[in-house]
Amino acid sequence: MATAAFETPKLKSYPVIPLVQDGAMSHLKPFVASGPIQTALGFPGELVDDWQNKAIAKMGELLGKYRSLQVYMDACVHCGACSDKCHYFLGTGDPKNMPVARQDLMRKVYRRYFTFAGKHFPKLVGAVDLTRDVLDDWYSYYHQCSECRRCSVFCPYGIDTAEVTMAAREIMDSIGMGQKYSNEIIGKVHRIGNNLGIPGPALENTLEGLEEDTKDDTGLDIKFPLNVKGAEVLLITPSADFFSEPHVESLIGYAKVFHAAGISWTLSSHASEAGNFGMFIGNYEQMRNISMRVREAALELGVKRIVVGECGHAWRVAYSFWNTLIGPFDYLDPRYPVPQHICEVTDDLIQRGALHFHKDANDDKIITFHDSCNVARASRMGNVPGGQFVIPRRIITSVANHFHDMALQTIHEGTFCCGGGGGLLTDDLMELRVKGALPRMEALKDVVEDHDVNFMATICAICKAQFTKVLPYYGFNMGMVGGVHQLVSKAIRLGDK
Ligand code: SF4
Ligand code: SF4
Repeated sequence: MATAAFETPKLKSYPVIPLVQDGAMSHLKPFVASGPIQTALGFPGELVDDWQNKAIAKMGELLGKYRSLQVYMDACVHCGACSDKCHYFLGTGDPKNMPVARQDLMRKVYRRYFTFAGKHFPKLVGAVDLTRDVLDDWYSYYHQCSECRRCSVFCPYGIDTAEVTMAAREIMDSIGMGQKYSNEIIGKVHRIGNNLGIPGPALENTLEGLEEDTKDDTGLDIKFPLNVKGAEVLLITPSADFFSEPHVESLIGYAKVFHAAGISWTLSSHASEAGNFGMFIGNYEQMRNISMRVREAALELGVKRIVVGECGHAWRVAYSFWNTLIGPFDYLDPRYPVPQHICEVTDDLIQRGALHFHKDANDDKIITFHDSCNVARASRMGNVPGGQFVIPRRIITSVANHFHDMALQTIHEGTFCCGGGGGLLTDDLMELRVKGALPRMEALKDVVEDHDVNFMATICAICKAQFTKVLPYYGFNMGMVGGVHQLVSKAIRLGDK
């Protein structure tokens, strides 16, 4: 890995609000998508002529379509409650990474073109023209927001900066200024079916290899089925689960759970991706097209349940959007009428006494849990409020003996983003990713020092990939992050084993 040219922040005791450093991150921009990447998604291949008028027109369209955006543009009273709540501000000190300032990048333009005062007395109300400098600021700072929604928890008006970021990215895509990383990945899903671009035969080989490895390990024929018609469950999981470490350990865990419970299941080569980067770029059509593969696969295979693996934003899309995008789910078993999270499945089996564990198999680990943003603040699990906080922790404490939560203000709905969410998990943004991880690293340091924690579990593919990269910058072992079902896999009792 090339050494990035920046200084890793020093770990302090949370919370320390940094000194403001004007323009500290103004140099950082992700690569712009090339013409072929853009046009494959139906976007202009480069910045269009007359881009300013087209961007304003697109903003008008979004303000009409999403009433929330209009409310967010008008409602902010600049109380400042959100200003120190963003991990990217806390990690960089750049005032434009304060959520209110990030919103203001769009709000100033909104006022200029969509309000009476801004049209006639722009200086009085802080309204500005959409110039090339303003557009460049948008590109930079709307790609320094992971759409984590932490700021919205603290806003007395409930203003959601993530939605503003999504709108800004949608406007930029529409004038030919899309982000390479996210748009390239979306293109791969359309062409091949998953973010990593793994073709069906390679996926089949991988799953056969996993069956052999698991047989060597357990002595049992634990299946990793692909495209099996008539299976009860269709598992939709992030493609990182097929190849990446530590992700694959959780996939093995899901397979063991289904095996132990006697549930027939299958993966699909057509819908071999849970992730949905259409949400990151704020584009409803892209989000729908990606999701549609799930409906097509479920109907083709004739499954009765849909279960989603460990992926934070995928669960948000599944929980909050799938019904509108690809519903109705009237073909599913009425006992499981909506898609479930794999943690709900496992937790339910544990509560019913259908799974048993050797908890001491995880005794080498002292575990903490990182709540992933999109699960914590944009979805739910189970049928009680806060189930998304209770269920993963209940699974962990059912399969392991040693668990300590991090500081309360850094978990549950106050959790800090890993620093790589929202389409920012790309090496061209490594400086932002490292600095944005600072608040989570500080909270982790406290439980490492106070409780000897040596393992941080999480249920998000992006969090796993991000932490694997940034933990070493802060002096931690990259192997100390893993999935909840990695712990399940280690402890579950199978057959006589
Ligand atoms: S949504 Fe998250 S990343 Fe974006 S401004 Fe708010 S706290 Fe920061
Ligand atoms: S907390 Fe809400 S109202 Fe206050 S400055 Fe932030 S966005 Fe505006």
